Formats: sequence, C-alpha cells, structure tokens
Amino acid sequence: MAEQGRDAGDGQGARDVRAVRGRGVPDDVARAWDELVATARRSVADGLVVGTSGNVSVRVGDTVLVTPTGVPYDRLTPDTVVGVDLDGRQVLGSLRPTSELPMHLAVYGATGARAVVHTHAVHATAVSTLVPELPLIHYMSAALGGAVRVAPYATYGTQELAENMLRALADRTACLLQNHGTLTYGATLSEAYDRTAQLEWMCRVWLTASTVPGLTPTLLSREQVAEVEERLRGYGQPG
Ligand code: 13P
Ligand code: ZN
Repeated sequence: MAEQGRDAGDGQGARDVRAVRGRGVPDDVARAWDELVATARRSVADGLVVGTSGNVSVRVGDTVLVTPTGVPYDRLTPDTVVGVDLDGRQVLGSLRPTSELPMHLAVYGATGARAVVHTHAVHATAVSTLVPELPLIHYMSAALGGAVRVAPYATYGTQELAENMLRALADRTACLLQNHGTLTYGATLSEAYDRTAQLEWMCRVWLTASTVPGLTPTLLSREQVAEVEERLRGYGQPG
C-alpha cells in the first residue's frame, strides 16, 4: 500500500503527498487521494474493472474525492486530484468528475458512508441480468446486510439510476445495478473495496452452482443469514 511506502521512508508515497500538499491541498486530503488511486488501480489489477469503467470516491470532511471521468487509473497522479462538495460543486482540481457523481453523492447523502466503489465486475454484472436479487447462496450475504438486491436499469450517470440504486441499497451496504455492475460502500476505502470483492465472489459461486445441468443449488433461509449477521459482529480479533 502507498500508506506503508510513505511510512517506510522517503519513497514514492512521501513524494506524492508532498506534491499534492505543495498545491495547497491539506495533508488528510492528499493521503485520501493517494489511497483512492491505489484502490482504483487495485480494482483493475484484480480484474474487477476493465478500461475506464467503474469509479471510486472517498469522503474527507465535507469534501468528496472522486475519480475523474474517462481517465485510465494508471494516469492518475497527485496532480489529478478531483474533489466536490456534498452538492456536487467542484472544489478541487480541473478534470471533470466521474459521470456517476449522482450515485456517489446519493450514498453519502443517505448513509454514513466514507467510501464508495462502483465496478462492472463480470460475474456480478451477469447476475444483475438474471434475478431481482442475489439468492442466499452463502452466509457472507450477511456481511452485506442480507440478500443483495438488483436496482432496475437506468442510463449510466443519471439521477434515475441514483434513485433506483438507493432503493436497492436500503439496509444493505451493497447492490447490483441491472445490466451494469456493482455498488458498495463502507467506513473506509478498504472496507468498501472488500465488499465489492466479496459480492463478486458470491455472484461467481451462485453462477457456478446454478449452471450445473440437472441440479439446483441449496439456498440459506433469511433466518440462517440473520443468525450469521449477529455472529459476524464478534468475528476476528478483539480490539
Ligand atoms: P466514469 O469514467 O465517468 O467514472 O464512468 C464509468 C462508469 O462506470 C459509468 O457507469
Ligand atoms: Zn458503471
């Protein structure tokens, strides 16, 4: 991670933060931008995004940093920082923000999210064309709040898509966008990103199991998933 590189010494990360700070951007914003760029690049490296599809945002105070529209992630540098306020007015940078700004701002407006990730991950996008919600194929549905819904199709970048997405997101931290892709949010970029990866993995499991000729996968009940939701609160290391 860039964060580690910065802490480890005077590496590229340290130079990046100084470059952004040198242009009048506060330190916390510079660090958040650095992390956003690393997350966006990871989505390509992990095969969740192809070309300039997908977008990432992170909230720092009342500023939302977003990937610029139509720019490949390997071209993002400390100088390409793009920030808007919670109403979408540009407050940082000169590149145009992602076309999906309405979706990102809708999530920040309706939830306590600090980061949002949108991708066109292949298995998740395939599932979005088949069912109104991802069947409860695995207990990790609980980590996303329950059965992940599919928001009805609307043209990319529109307010209509943002509204459909917000309805599908009720009591969830993830949804699918019909014939389009995924959207997840979290308290941090890594949490939002991990939720996308889990969602894509679960969609892959369901597709794999449900395409075996002559067999139908067993599904979990809502009660079974609710029980896991409770249990996951104590998952992992204490503290
Ligand atoms: P942007 O390049 O504008 O972020 O758009 C990509 C996308 O996924 C639109 O849905
Ligand atoms: Zn998209």
